[in-house]
Amino acid sequence: MMFAESRGMSSTISLPTCSCCHRHIMPNDKCVKFNCPNCGTDLIWRCESCREAARNYTCSSCNFQGP
Ligand SMILES: [Zn+2]
Ligand SMILES: [Zn+2]
Repeated sequence: MMFAESRGMSSTISLPTCSCCHRHIMPNDKCVKFNCPNCGTDLIWRCESCREAARNYTCSSCNFQGP
């Protein structure tokens, strides 16, 4: 699903957002992405800082929270 979330921004590229801190993930970020281990449909993104801090993520589809 592709929805334009960033209207009015100069960038036309839709950057993924970190599922932990909800910041945009830059292409050179050492992020990780994986499917939700609970529902398997949602793609979880974790930015570098959240990965290092081991912050919890929340799946936007099933609200599953995991480390
Ligand atoms: Zn983050
Ligand atoms: Zn899920």
